[in-house]
Amino acid sequence: MYAAYRLRLAGQSMRIFEAGDDLGGTWYWNRYPGARVDIPGVDYMFSFDADRSRDWRWPEKYATQPEILRYLNQVADKHDLRHDMQFGTRVTRAHWDDTLSGYRVRTDYGDEIGCRYLVMATGCLSVPKDLDIPGVENFTGEVYFTSRWPHEPVDFTGKRVGVVGTGSSGIQSIPLIAAQAAQLVVFQRTPCFSIPAHNGPIAPDKLAQLLDDSAYRQAAKYSFAGVPLERTITPAFSVSADERRQRYEGAWQRGELLEVLNLYTDVMSNPLANNDFEPSRVSCTPRYV
Ligand SMILES: Cc1cc2nc3c(=O)[nH]c(=O)nc-3n(C[C@H](O)[C@H](O)[C@H](O)COP(=O)(O)OP(=O)(O)OC[C@H]3O[C@@H](n4cnc5c(N)ncnc54)[C@H](O)[C@@H]3O)c2cc1C
Repeated sequence: MYAAYRLRLAGQSMRIFEAGDDLGGTWYWNRYPGARVDIPGVDYMFSFDADRSRDWRWPEKYATQPEILRYLNQVADKHDLRHDMQFGTRVTRAHWDDTLSGYRVRTDYGDEIGCRYLVMATGCLSVPKDLDIPGVENFTGEVYFTSRWPHEPVDFTGKRVGVVGTGSSGIQSIPLIAAQAAQLVVFQRTPCFSIPAHNGPIAPDKLAQLLDDSAYRQAAKYSFAGVPLERTITPAFSVSADERRQRYEGAWQRGELLEVLNLYTDVMSNPLANNDFEPSRVSCTPRYV
């Protein structure tokens, strides 16, 4: 969507092919129960849309998939971005052609086009992992992939459900599926840990910052991950164990993912610093079935 916006500004003509039947990418495909962003919604917005804080209000800190999809559609409509998009069309082949001095592109819809530039906005997480469990062909029940969830809600009432994986999608969907299912078993290869989200309404001080958001957005632009946050310069073991525990506790209580990654310079690179944060809280014991 951003590429479409910028290329139009640059006066380029373009065709955009999308395999899905509508726009949204990640947020079009991932419709599983509980799907949400893991950074605050106010920070997960298009920077090219200058009036975003005025025109869009997230009802809660961490937006759900349906809200994000609504937001993306609102931005597309506002900037007339659907104009060049062709949905339900997968690019199957693209190669450079010297005679054309450009690419020849084919789609499964039968399009054959030539173009000078080819932008692969195909996503970093858009291909689901295949089912590669020996014997799975003998399973006669229903199989769902979080990243290819049906558009209609799936009713698990009275069913026995197995969830494979405890990454973000597993963690988000397990409690909601468990609330419906007769029984739910989680298959976990590698335990991971998760911090509490403390989701809820957006804090008043954050809303105040967004009233005139130019300073906030400028800080985001030069930040570590698009969220204004002063980078720490303190290594974990340069402070006392008591001080570390207090900071861990504060971050845990606030539930800000990026704050956790930014607690100490080496929390993500030094295993000792990482372990110092982790074992005080993890109660994630694998259960083998
Ligand atoms: C469940 C989930 C939660 C996430 N939460 C966050 C978050 O909180 N914060 C964050 O920063 N990131 C998050 N991400 C990462 C997310 O993928 C990116 O933030 C962002 O949406 C990626 O956008 P994209 O346009 O690069 O790719 P995508 O949104 O993946 O879009 C790529 C599109 O290309 C299409 N495509 C692929 N191949 C072809 C082809 N051959 N022909 C035609 N079309 C094709 C796909 O159908 C897809 O629609 C999350 C990802 C997932 C899966």
